[in-house]
Order: sequence, then structure tokens, then C-alpha cells
Amino acid sequence: MSARPDPLDPSAATLLGDSAYPESQVSVGGATYWLEGSGAGGKRLVAVASEESTFDGFTGTVETVDGKARLVADITADNALALRSALPWLNPSRMGLHTSVGFGDRLGLATPGHVRALKAVGAPVRPVFAQQSIREMGRCHRSPRNVLDDATWGAFQAGWTDPVGGDADHLEQIEDIDHTAAAGFAFFTLDPKAEVDPEAEHADAATIRAKVEALDWPGLESDLASFTKAYVGRRIDLEHESVELEEESVLRAMAKYGPSLSHAMAMYRRLEEKGIDCEVEFAVDETDYPTKPAEHVVVVSELKRLGMDFISFAPRFVGRFEKGVEYIGDLDELRRDFEVHAGLARALGPYKLSLHSGSDKYSTYPLIAEATRGVVHLKTAGTSWAEALRVIAQNDPDLMRQILTLALDSFEANRKSYHLSCDPAKIPTDPTDDEVARLMDVVDSRQVLHVGYGAILEEFGQRMYQVWNNNEEELYGVIADHFVKHLEPFAPHAQ
Ligand SMILES: [Zn+2]
Repeated sequence: MSARPDPLDPSAATLLGDSAYPESQVSVGGATYWLEGSGAGGKRLVAVASEESTFDGFTGTVETVDGKARLVADITADNALALRSALPWLNPSRMGLHTSVGFGDRLGLATPGHVRALKAVGAPVRPVFAQQSIREMGRCHRSPRNVLDDATWGAFQAGWTDPVGGDADHLEQIEDIDHTAAAGFAFFTLDPKAEVDPEAEHADAATIRAKVEALDWPGLESDLASFTKAYVGRRIDLEHESVELEEESVLRAMAKYGPSLSHAMAMYRRLEEKGIDCEVEFAVDETDYPTKPAEHVVVVSELKRLGMDFISFAPRFVGRFEKGVEYIGDLDELRRDFEVHAGLARALGPYKLSLHSGSDKYSTYPLIAEATRGVVHLKTAGTSWAEALRVIAQNDPDLMRQILTLALDSFEANRKSYHLSCDPAKIPTDPTDDEVARLMDVVDSRQVLHVGYGAILEEFGQRMYQVWNNNEEELYGVIADHFVKHLEPFAPHAQ
């Protein structure tokens, strides 16, 4: 089976009904597939082929129409799997060092908008449509397969025929590996933040030494003397600067990250046992303190020594990367931070530098795109959800007011584990229609609504999906416009 589509069978175009999505139509292996509406917001898969047996993997009805076998099948998990088998480019695959962007989608509705943005920008960016953290899946009551299948249907609907990634994001437990690997993800973001020791940031020398001596060195397949010898006094020369490794910073780095390396390796080995074709990101972006250059060197070099093959590294950069709003911090300082981390990624790798909580950080994109020369992964998660709320505000302001009330009432629970600076007291509690329309443009309300998704979907999900399904063109347009602004700064360096 070809990993690419064949030229579109011209006779198939005449079969499209009024409710079909014309851009979905694709021919491969002697069959032509497309998606069409089936009333009341539902969709179904339709396909024609000369042989009935072409559709053996699908569950649906097959009839002979004008001498051809015609399949009509529901949008189910089994049929998503069969579709990925028939259209293999829809299976997540490794992205290597290509410029890549993760478009998280909490709703399973946004992918056609993401595809539109990619097509509009036209840069060689590898997309990850299926991407959700375990934390978010829990709050949205989605399974890893739901996430993957929704992205499959969305990419198919919008006519995406290039490779796609699939990011099992922010995995913290070994069992997370099992669940997401079984679903078919190809990119695993290992996040051992619970094992990173924030006390090591400011602890005195004696405490640092005690922490390092107490590490599980046999588990790390090393000992303190060998570790010290490997790093202390070393210098990494970059193009415009060098990173000197002094004893103090090396020991502090290991005190801080040592336990997290063991845990990340345990997750990595679990993944290796499965023997699947995949790649890994190592992420410490949700830790309390910026990752210093010496820490970058020690962490990455130790992971390599222990046998981890990773394609990207997500440090915690300087400044604040809060949910759904612009970067908060000094851009010159951030540029220097990007430059030194990107230089290290070239010198010690190459591997990609990964920018998390990357949505809406417009001022940072040209800086990281240039510093990394396009060897970069941009990860956004909740911004499609935030933008989708505009469609609710526009079409059902009353519903939006109720959503806001709930988001405010449940804010203290929702904000847990998110970095935010919003002040809920500044949000109007009984907003006019005009104020409702602007809720997503103001930091306070945008963040409160951004993190409120779990409670909001629980209470109003059904009504909200109705609004989105009835206004899907508007939804795709809003999301596409938003993502064009994210992708364009990467275009000059994309590779
Ligand atoms: Zn992250």
C-alpha cells in the first residue's frame, strides 16, 4: 500500500452529493474515499471501488451501484482504524528533525481549521494534530484513541495527505506509556517533573552534596566519582560563546534533575519494550525554575549515556509562558536563552528544541525559529479551545454568560497545575453581548475560560457541541486565522 494518495479518480467527483466535503475526496489503491454530512451534525464515510473486498476492514454497508462497490460507514473507532490502514499517511509517524508544530485539540473538532492554516501558510511544517496530555484527557473524559481518531477524521475531512505526528503529551507515569502506545501514538513526551527537586535551586553546598550522594547511583548506572570526572571542568564551545561546567553547577544540576532521570528512563524502557516505531521528547518545561545551560548539558548527556534516544528537549525557558497569553518577560533575555539552548542542541545532538505552552506567544516565534534554524517543535494545547469559545460567544451569548459564571465559580479548582496571572475579580459577572464578544481578547477572562474546560464541558458540553456543529465553517475559519499567526513566523526557517 502506497504511503501517498494516487491522482484523484476523475469519475469519482460526479458521485459527490450536496452534503459531501469535496476536499476530503481522495483516491488510493483503486478506491476513492470521502466524507459527507449525514444530518443533525453527523458525518459518514463513503467510498467506491471496483472490488467489494477493498472494504473488508470497514464496518458498514456495501452495495453495488453502477457496477461499483459502494461503502457507507459510520464515524466509529473501528472505522477510523480501517481508514488509517487504507490511507496510511493518516497514521502518526516519526517527524525527525523537521520543523514541527503540535496543535492540541481538546474538543476533537479543530483539526480541519489546523489544516486550513497549514495550507494557507504553505511552509514545510510537520503537523501533530493528535496531541493531548493525560491531565487534559482526564478532564475532557477522552481516551488516547478518541484523541487519535478525532484527528484522523478531521485530517481526512480537510484533505490532509502529508505525514502527521501523534503526541502522547506530558506522560508522567509508566502506565501512561501503555495506554497511549496501544492507541497508536508515535511521539511520546516524557515529563518526570514530579521527580525534579526544586529545593536544589537555592540549597547550600552541603545540602547539594548530601542530595547528590543520596542519589540512586546504581540505578543511574554510575557513581559520584565517575559523574564528577565526566563533567567538572568541561567546556562546551558554541559558535558565539562557551558553557563552562564548574563543580558547583554540575552537582546542583544533578541534585535537581537526578531522580527525574531515573524515572524518565523507566518510562523510556517501557516504551522500548514495545518495539514500536516512535520518537521521544524529554520535557521539564513545567518545573519551577529556568533550565540553566549547565543543567541542559548534564541532563541531556546523562540521558544519552543511559541510552535514551530523544528527538527533542523542552527546557523551562526564562520568563513566563502562561496559558493562552503573550510571553511575559524580557525578550532580549529570552533571545539569549534560546540561543544558548539551541547552540547546545546542535553541539550535543542535533535534537530539536521544543517550546511548550507555545500558543499566543507571538513575540517569541521569530526568536526561536531563528535561534534553532528551524530545528524546533512548537507545542500549543488549549488555544483551539479558547478560540472555539468565540464561536459560542458569537452565536449564543446567553450560553456564554452561563459558561463564564461556571468558569468563575470553579476557577480555584481549575487553575491547579497551570501557570496563570489573571485576576477573576476584574471580569464582568453579568457582561453585555459586546462584553461577551470580547471575553477571549482580555487576559483575565481568557485565562479563566482557558483552564475551565473540564468543568465547562461537563456541564454545557452537549449544547456547546451543537453550536459548533451548526457553525463549523465559522469555527474552522476562526481557528485557521489564529494558527496562521502562529505558523507564519516559522515559515522562513521551516525545513
Ligand atoms: Zn509542556
